[in-house]
Amino acid sequence: MNEKHNYVDCDRCGHWQDDRRRKEVCEQCNNTRQTIDPKDILCNRCGGPQRPLGTHNEQYSHGLEDAEITGGYDSYHLFDMTTYKFSICEKCLREIFNQFAIKPTVIDRLGSTDGPADPWAEDQEMYEYRVWKDAGGHHQAYLNRKCNFVKDCPNRAEYTQLISNDFTESCCCEEHKGLWGYGNSKLTKFIPNVLKPFL
Ligand SMILES: [Zn+2]
Ligand SMILES: [Zn+2]
Ligand SMILES: [Zn+2]
Repeated sequence: MNEKHNYVDCDRCGHWQDDRRRKEVCEQCNNTRQTIDPKDILCNRCGGPQRPLGTHNEQYSHGLEDAEITGGYDSYHLFDMTTYKFSICEKCLREIFNQFAIKPTVIDRLGSTDGPADPWAEDQEMYEYRVWKDAGGHHQAYLNRKCNFVKDCPNRAEYTQLISNDFTESCCCEEHKGLWGYGNSKLTKFIPNVLKPFL
């Protein structure tokens, strides 16, 4: 608990004028203008970074950060009057959620409760799609002329998605074309990689 930390300049109040600095207290640095280096904030479970390092939000708390749990008189698995402090990163939270016998309640961004029948299953599916896409699966599927609207779709891509009339690598099969469709996006006949340079 008494580890030595490195400090960096506080981003949250870095742009404040002196006038504001006299009147307000920055909740991040308490007007010291220095804050713990986000690289020093670690997940207790995996030992990796707790924060999305290198992003604009690395000075904001992420995951279950600085959680505290204290046992009571009838506690058995924790000791009475003993406090346990820890942080768990978002990646570990995802893994722990997947081990839950009863999955977490998922409330969508708009706070709506009449979402999909199994909001956790859909959330997990979206997560797996994101990881697959970031690992290159989406791009590879496009090169192979496979639908990439869902992860590992075995079907041939028939359509390419255009956003504001610009080409994208998103492409889909007949079965999944209904999944897409927002404002400025539309589907056109599939545009293979070899034709892309001529667009
Ligand atoms: Zn500050
Ligand atoms: Zn972790
Ligand atoms: Zn498909």
